[in-house]
Amino acid sequence: MTDNSRLTTNYETVIGLEVHVQLDTKSKLFCACPTTFGSEPNRNTCPVCLGWPGSLPVLNEQALKFAVKTGLALNAEIAERLKFDRKNYFYPDLPKAYQISQFDMPVNKGGHLLIDLKRADGSLEEKRIGITRAHLEEDAGKLVHEGVKDGSLVDYNRGGIPLLEIVSEPDLRSPEEAYAYLLALKAVLEYLEVSDCNMEEGSLRCDANVSIRPKGEAKFGTRVEIKNLNSFKAVQKAIQYEVERHTKVLESGEKISQETRLWNDDKGQTFLMRSKEEAHDYRYFPEPDLVPFTLSRESVEKIRATLPELPADRAKRLIRDHGLSPYDAYTLVQDRKLANYFEAAIKEKAGAKLTSNWIQSELLALLNSKKISIENSPVKPADLAGLVRLIENNTISGKIAKDVLPEMFETGKSAEAIVKEKGLVQVTDTKQIEEAVDKALAANPKSVEDFRAGKQQALGFLVGQVMKETKGKANPKMVNEILEKKLKIST
Ligand code: ADP
Ligand code: MG
Ligand code: ZN
Repeated sequence: MTDNSRLTTNYETVIGLEVHVQLDTKSKLFCACPTTFGSEPNRNTCPVCLGWPGSLPVLNEQALKFAVKTGLALNAEIAERLKFDRKNYFYPDLPKAYQISQFDMPVNKGGHLLIDLKRADGSLEEKRIGITRAHLEEDAGKLVHEGVKDGSLVDYNRGGIPLLEIVSEPDLRSPEEAYAYLLALKAVLEYLEVSDCNMEEGSLRCDANVSIRPKGEAKFGTRVEIKNLNSFKAVQKAIQYEVERHTKVLESGEKISQETRLWNDDKGQTFLMRSKEEAHDYRYFPEPDLVPFTLSRESVEKIRATLPELPADRAKRLIRDHGLSPYDAYTLVQDRKLANYFEAAIKEKAGAKLTSNWIQSELLALLNSKKISIENSPVKPADLAGLVRLIENNTISGKIAKDVLPEMFETGKSAEAIVKEKGLVQVTDTKQIEEAVDKALAANPKSVEDFRAGKQQALGFLVGQVMKETKGKANPKMVNEILEKKLKIST
């Protein structure tokens, strides 16, 4: 391992990602079949998506609009002329023996996405990742092997579902950057509402291209393409695995061969799928059943007018208008629903910084433990704001609040009601705290002695005793002050 990291430092990693996004349309890309997930096999099919002779494809306008919307959000150039092409290959998941895709005139060309990288000191660094293209294509069917004794079954429900393939430039330099890129891209797609981005249902799929080159070298090294990546974490792990493999190969004086590899998540390894020699020649040619057409600039501008505020802009606004730290802001906006929750809470006059802390630590921990999503949180934004306000106006301490929140979660009661019912109002009466301090000092002469002998931990223990005496209700700041004062006086 030590050896590896020494070797790795001599090389630079180069990564480009190809992401397939299922566009959230009601019907397929070239026919009226529904896109419903989980239907009975081959139920959502018709002569067009089954490739019967004589059937003709018709482009789904909504899919095109979603593709343009995504292109605009990724700062791409939207094509004036559009054309579809046939990508030919022979495999049972493809009944026509070709996939309708876009070859040389993709709907979106060029563009970029900003990603946020966490530096060692906790601050954020923004990096611009180039987008090569994003084009429309139809999905293939699915082979089923499980539970089949002889041969395989095929389900064409997925065949013809609209996909947008988003290809990045080889601008990513580490597995962590690849992970950050996927998070940022997913956030943009969710904000645009063009895809449900559900990885388990295959709405978001990613292939990773990886190579390494000696540091300072201008030419890229030979790349491999990794497929079968089922989660963002898998993408990160598979790239790391390949970087280590490439390093070993190059260090032993051998060469990397260009190939496609499959990631096995259980084994944590990649395996050869096919070499360059076995690569398909797709023999692209224009789809004769769909004529090239012009996309008016007017219609593009109409789509531009529907763009929502995007995650990066939202983060900047939260930092500017509410004083959030960049890290808090970017973490919140990554998840649109989480950011919505936050904004709804601070509308109820709760401080932004404290609200953000409570959402990101205590509330999310509770939600995760119960597997509840933020939009279904039993503690509503206004309820959380109520709790935060009680901390801010010193009615309860943060420590007590940590007990109140789970109770709100369980019972649906407001923070105020729970605090009143259980008599949890913070003790800020100096006299009452002084009495508790005196009691604690008298009962623990050993700790007092320790403190005087310079043992700082003794103070923590004494604070704890006072809090116990007041059932956790004493204002911690006042306890500290009074304790220190009394300890000094009696020295
Ligand atoms: P293909 O059509 O064979 O998949 P592309 O030219 O479309 O090839 O490239 C696919 C992806 O590979 C892109 O995301 C690109 O950024 C990336 N890529 C190209 N060259 C390299 C390289 N040497 N190392 C890493 N990634 C690369
Ligand atoms: Mg490719
Ligand atoms: Zn169909």
